[in-house]
Order: sequence, then structure tokens, then C-alpha cells
Amino acid sequence: MKRPRCGDSGGRTLAGAPCEQLVEQGRPRCCWHPLEESGVTEEQRAEQRRELATRGSVQARLNVMLSLPPETPDPVYRTPADVIAFAERTAGQVLRRELDTRLAAEAHENAALALKAMELTAWATIEALRRSVLGRRRGRP
Ligand SMILES: [Zn+2]
Repeated sequence: MKRPRCGDSGGRTLAGAPCEQLVEQGRPRCCWHPLEESGVTEEQRAEQRRELATRGSVQARLNVMLSLPPETPDPVYRTPADVIAFAERTAGQVLRRELDTRLAAEAHENAALALKAMELTAWATIEALRRSVLGRRRGRP
């Protein structure tokens, strides 16, 4: 079901267009365009507007991403042990609400990329050893 808008009940903007503000059940119009016969005083309208503004600022604060201070050092990913230590540190920061889960997920992807690079390096080393061993065997009489 389509949610009612203030304009559906005759609410008009200063320019005269229907007001697009979504309204709650039981309230035909938004707090800026109340029905004249509703008996809502200017004082009550001001209170409703303050309430909406407070809800808006609380929501805005919740949307701010938690992040670590700028002096936080770059992660080091030279060995798998580095990546494990980083993953543990990041998990702790998320659990203590010091770091947003979205940022932690991004850092997790970078750690996974570093692990993949370590894996490819290990495979290259194995391949070089294999060739070296095969070469020696072929060289035998
Ligand atoms: Zn309105």
C-alpha cells in the first residue's frame, strides 16, 4: 500500500505544489501543513518539528562511520602471522565499537589480497624447486 503524503490531504507548499512529505498513520498532514480544523496549536506544531529535527540528528550521528585516529600505522602484511595479528586487532576494534564494520570489511579484503599474493609467491618458490630437482635428476647418468 502506498504511504500517504501530506499533499494527498491538501497540504500545499509555499509555491502551491502538493506537499511530498510522507505522513504517519492517523496524521493526515505533516507538521508544517496541519489541517486548520485539527485544533493543533502553533506551540504543538513547533514541538513536532523539534521532535523530527532531534530524530534526524540522532540518525545522522548513527550514520557517521567509526574510524581509527589518523596516526594509526599502516597494516603490515609480510607474513601470514602478520595477517592473523591484523585480523585479531581489527576484530577487537569492531567489537569495542572503535571501527565501523564497513571499514573493517574493506581492510579484511586487503588482508585477503595480501594472503593471495603470499600464496602465489609460495607457488612460484615450489615451482622453482621442482624444476631444480627435475633438472638434477635428468643430469644423472
Ligand atoms: Zn506538508
